[in-house]
Amino acid sequence: MGQAMPVSYVRVTGVERITPRTARITFTGEALPRLLEDRPDQQMKLCLPREGRSVAEGLLPEQDAEDVHGMRWYEAFLAIPEARRPWMRGFTVRAYDRGAREMTVDFVLHGEGGPASRWGADARPGDVLGMVGPSSLYARPLPEVASMLLAGDETALPAIATVLEALPAATRAVVYAEVADAGEELELPAAAGGAEVRWIHRDRGGSLLEAVRGAGAALDGVDAAWVAGEASAVRALRRHLVEERRLPKGSVEFSGYWRRALTQDDAPTEEDLAWAAERAADSA
Ligand SMILES: Cc1cc2nc3c(=O)[nH]c(=O)nc-3n(C[C@H](O)[C@H](O)[C@H](O)COP(=O)(O)OP(=O)(O)OC[C@H]3O[C@@H](n4cnc5c(N)ncnc54)[C@H](O)[C@@H]3O)c2cc1C
Repeated sequence: MGQAMPVSYVRVTGVERITPRTARITFTGEALPRLLEDRPDQQMKLCLPREGRSVAEGLLPEQDAEDVHGMRWYEAFLAIPEARRPWMRGFTVRAYDRGAREMTVDFVLHGEGGPASRWGADARPGDVLGMVGPSSLYARPLPEVASMLLAGDETALPAIATVLEALPAATRAVVYAEVADAGEELELPAAAGGAEVRWIHRDRGGSLLEAVRGAGAALDGVDAAWVAGEASAVRALRRHLVEERRLPKGSVEFSGYWRRALTQDDAPTEEDLAWAAERAADSA
C-alpha cells in the first residue's frame, strides 16, 4: 500500500460463466492480503500471457519504492522482448474474501478480439497472471451526497457493484447500466440508501447516453455522478451532465475504460490527451 506500482502474481482458483459474456474468475496470491483494501473501485492492471507463453514469477520488473509514478517500472516493462512481454489490461477488483484470500474479477468477453477477452474465455484453475496495483494512492473518497448517478457499460459493472456496497445509508443510488442484451444483466448489490437500476439493452437499440439524456425527472436531485465505459460515450455523458444537468465538474468522476476500434496498447489520441488534461484540471 502507498506504492504506485506494487507488482505481484495471482493464480486462478475458479472460473464461472455468470452470464453468456461474463467470466467471473477467482484468484489467490501471496500478496493479496497486503495489497487489497476494504474500499470500492480498486483498479489494477493484469498482465496476461502472449499466445503460447506463460507469465512466470520474475518475468515482470520489480517495483521500486522511489519510482512513485511507476515511469521507470513501465520503461523496464517495455524493455521485455515483445515476444515475451505480457499484455497489460485494466481491471477492477469485484470482491475480496479476506478469509479465503480470494480475489474475484469479472471479465467481459466482448468478442472483438483482444487478449484479455480471449484469456477470460479460456481461463483454467492454475493459470498465473501478473498484477500491477491496486494502489491506494489513486483512491478517491465517495462523495457525501443525497443522490448519486452510477452509469456505465458491462466493464463498469464490477466497480459500480463495489460502490453500491460502500455507499452510506444517506445516499440514494440511481444506476444506468448498458449491456448487450437482457441475458447480460447482473444482480447488483443493494445499496444501504436504496438504489434504482435501469438496464439499457444494445440489441434493442438502447444506448447509455440516450437513456441518461432522456431520463428527465428520474435524475432530478442527483448531485454527483460516477461514469465509466467506452471512452467516447463517457465523454459525451460527462458533457451532458455538466452542461445540461448543471452538475459541478468536480462532482462528475469519469473514466474511459476502453476505446472503440483501439486496443489498450494503442497510443492516446489527441482527444484522449485533451480529456486527460481536463480530468487533471477538474481534480486539482
Ligand atoms: C480502470 C479500469 C478498470 C476496468 N475494469 C474492467 C473489469 O473489471 N472487467 C472488464 O471486463 N473490463 C474492465 N476494463 C476494461 C478493459 O480493460 C478493456 O475492455 C480492455 O480493452 C479489454 O482488453 P482486451 O485485450 O480484451 O481488448 P483490447 O486488445 O484492448 O482491444 C481489442 C478490441 O476490442 C475492443 N474492445 C475492448 N473492450 C471492449 C468491450 N468491453 N466491448 C466491446 N469491444 C471492446 C477494442 O475497441 C478493440 O477493437 C477496465 C478498464 C479500466 C481502464
